[in-house]
Amino acid sequence: MGEDLEQLKQRLPLLDYLRQQNWTGRPAGQGPEFVGLCPLHHETRPSFYVNARKNLFYCHGCGQGGDLIRFVELSQHLSFRQSLTYLEQQSTLADPDTVLRQASVFYQQQLDRYPEARRYLEQRGVRDLALIRELQIGYAPGGSLRRHLLAQGYSLDLLQGTGLVNPQGHDTFYQRVVFPCCQDGRIVNLYGRSIGTAFAHRFLPGSKGNLFAWESVRQSPRVILVEGMFDLAVLWQAGFHHATCSLGTHLTADQFRQLCDRPRTVYLTFDVDANGSGQQAAQALTHRLQAQGITTRRVLLPPGEDPNSFFVQGGDARQFQSLLEEAL
Ligand SMILES: [Zn+2]
Repeated sequence: MGEDLEQLKQRLPLLDYLRQQNWTGRPAGQGPEFVGLCPLHHETRPSFYVNARKNLFYCHGCGQGGDLIRFVELSQHLSFRQSLTYLEQQSTLADPDTVLRQASVFYQQQLDRYPEARRYLEQRGVRDLALIRELQIGYAPGGSLRRHLLAQGYSLDLLQGTGLVNPQGHDTFYQRVVFPCCQDGRIVNLYGRSIGTAFAHRFLPGSKGNLFAWESVRQSPRVILVEGMFDLAVLWQAGFHHATCSLGTHLTADQFRQLCDRPRTVYLTFDVDANGSGQQAAQALTHRLQAQGITTRRVLLPPGEDPNSFFVQGGDARQFQSLLEEAL
């Protein structure tokens, strides 16, 4: 209980909470103190002080003082326990992980309502309903997320802060198939693949997270690394559950560390595109992985193919298995 309390107060600093409640304070000198009108009694000259470092308030007018919970007890006329429940709710509503999770759930619910989304998945060779659910694939039709999340109590500030809603106040993702991107079990981003004419790949601002589903893949002594989520989806569908995805050919420092966290063989399966960029990236990554003692094999798909198109065009698990065995 005591520790939860400290965590709660850290998650929702007193000053942030007061500002959410429209309290305006100005710095009182050079230190961490702010001063403004007291929200707890009527006054015309500011005597309400907040120390942002100590996370405490004190009012010289009415003599009240204490921490965030004390403030909520006084201002909302709640008991200690009721204040905690109230604040838990407030801090959840301010948590980016929670709002991204809600957005992901909402997008998953939309998938069945828009035949164009299911048609697109089918075109990309993704048919298995259990897999669609396992990968938490959703669909952003555009124009309905903002309303849905505001109705759940999330602030427009938070929606814009996470990038779900753009500065003009509209949903960021329009007509995109959406996958959640996780880091240590938290959703840190969403990846949206356009099914229309808009630019193909889009993320929200911020990190793209860990290698996909790393917790389940990392146990395997052999790991297949692909660059796209649809590559991963068809591989999992074909039974290659030791495939993971870096969402692009450029690995983040964290993703690279994950691949190197124990001895293993990595099968690099990047696109064989016309301009050779996928293979150049694979070459560079091979050198970096080998320098860390990781065995690397490069899987050579037929020219112009990626793992997704390989399966869409009729390739099967047996053929892909022989490509793995022939890998350089
Ligand atoms: Zn006061």
